[in-house]
Amino acid sequence: MPETCKKYFIKTFGCQMNIADSNRFARILDELGFTRSDSPSESDLVVVNTCVVRAKAEDKAISYIGEIERIRKSGSKVSVILAGCLVPLVNENEIKRRFPVILFSINPENVDTFRDLVLEHCKPVPDCEKISDDVIQKDSGKSSFHAFVNIMRGCEQHCTYCIVPKARGNNASRKYEDIRDEIKWRIDNGAKAITLLGQSILDYGKDWQDKKPISSIKGDDLFRDLLDRISIEFPDIWIKFLTSHSKDLLFETIDLIASRDNISKFIHLPIQSGDDGILKKMNRGHNRDDYFKLVEYINNKIPDVRLSSDIIVGFPGENLDAFEQSLDLLRRVRFFKVFTFLYSTRPSTAAARMKDDLPIEEKRARLNRLIDLQNLITLERHKELVGEKLIIMVEGPALKSEEMLMGRSLSEDIVIFNSVDFVSTGDFVRVKIIEERQRTLIGEFVDRA
Ligand code: SF4
Repeated sequence: MPETCKKYFIKTFGCQMNIADSNRFARILDELGFTRSDSPSESDLVVVNTCVVRAKAEDKAISYIGEIERIRKSGSKVSVILAGCLVPLVNENEIKRRFPVILFSINPENVDTFRDLVLEHCKPVPDCEKISDDVIQKDSGKSSFHAFVNIMRGCEQHCTYCIVPKARGNNASRKYEDIRDEIKWRIDNGAKAITLLGQSILDYGKDWQDKKPISSIKGDDLFRDLLDRISIEFPDIWIKFLTSHSKDLLFETIDLIASRDNISKFIHLPIQSGDDGILKKMNRGHNRDDYFKLVEYINNKIPDVRLSSDIIVGFPGENLDAFEQSLDLLRRVRFFKVFTFLYSTRPSTAAARMKDDLPIEEKRARLNRLIDLQNLITLERHKELVGEKLIIMVEGPALKSEEMLMGRSLSEDIVIFNSVDFVSTGDFVRVKIIEERQRTLIGEFVDRA
C-alpha cells in the first residue's frame, strides 16, 4: 500500500438504505487506496452517514460529529464527510461553521458523485485513475454472503409524520438491467442472499409511469415484475425485500411470494397505528379493515409467513381509545416482530403543525404497554416454531457464546445453535428448533442443507 494512503472509518446511523450507501462508500474508498481503520481517532477521514427519521437519531448523529470535532481539536488531522438524510435539511455553510471538522457533505440523492467529491477534496490519492467506473458502481457488503441492493431511491408517499421524502427526494428507480448486473456481481463475489431495498419499494418503477402523484397510484405491478424476473433468473439465491407500504401490496404479489421457494416469507408491513382516525391524520391511504383483509389473504396464501410491523405511539390526537385500537390490532394480527417508536415531531412535516400535547410520561407509559404486549406475542409465535426444522444461513459465532453459531433463515428467523467443526460462515444448514427466546430461537444442528 503506498505511504500516502489515508485511513478511513465509517459510522452509520439508521436504516438498511444507509447501510447500503455506507457499503458503497467503503468500496469506493478501498478502491481509491484508503485503508479501513477500527476507530475514528486513528483515521484521517470519517464518513458520518446520518439518519433523521426520529429526533433521537438526529441528536445522536450530531453528537457523534461533536466527538470527532473534539478529536480534531486534540491534535488529530481527522476530517468528516457528512452523508445521509441530515444533509438536505441543513445549510452546508452553517453546519461547517458549527463543525469545522466537516470537509464536505454529500446528499443521499447524489451518492454517485462520492468518488468525484473524494478526489476533489482529498487529493492526492494514489492510483485512483486505475479504477474503472464499472467497478465502483458496485457496493461492498458487510457480509459478502448477504448483500443489500438498492433498487430505487426516494419516497413520494408523504406520510405526515415522516421527514424521509424531504431528505431523500423523489423516487428514482434503477433499470432492471442495472439491478440484475449488480446482483450478478454480488453473487460472483460470494453473495447467497440479496435484500432488495427501497424506502417504499412497492413504488418501484412508478416514476416511469405517468404524471399522477405516486401516492395515488395503487398497486405494485412493476415491483412484482422485477421480483418475478429476479427470482427466476437467480433460482439458488435467497431474495428478500424491504419496505412495503400496506396500501400497495397486491394480492398477485402475495401469490408470487407464496409460489417461489427462493423469495422470503418475511413481510414487513408497517401499519403505524391501529386507529382509523390516526391513520387518516398520518395520510397512510388505508384503514384498519383494509389492513386486516390484506393480512387475512397473506395468512391464507402463506401459512408460514413472518409478518412484522412498525407502530408509532403518541401521534398528535392519539387518545386512549385510539391507542387501545393499536393494542387490539397487535392482538388480532399477532406479528412476529414489531418495531415501536415514540412519536417525535420532525421539522417541516405536516404533522409538525398538529397539536402534540400528550405528556411525554403518558407516551412512555403507552409505549411500555405496547412493548410488553408484543413481547408476549413474539414469544408465543416463537414457541409455535419449537420442533420445526429450519434451513438457515450461518452468519458467524453467536454474540454471547463463542461455542455457539448464529444463522438466519430466508424468513428472518434468527437461530443460535451448537457449533459444528465443519460448518462455517455462509453455509446453509438445517437446524431443529428446541427452545424459544424473545429475540432468537435456540436450535440443534441436524445436517447440511
Ligand atoms: S412510506 Fe411514509 S413512512 Fe415510509 S419513508 Fe415514505 S413517507 Fe416515510
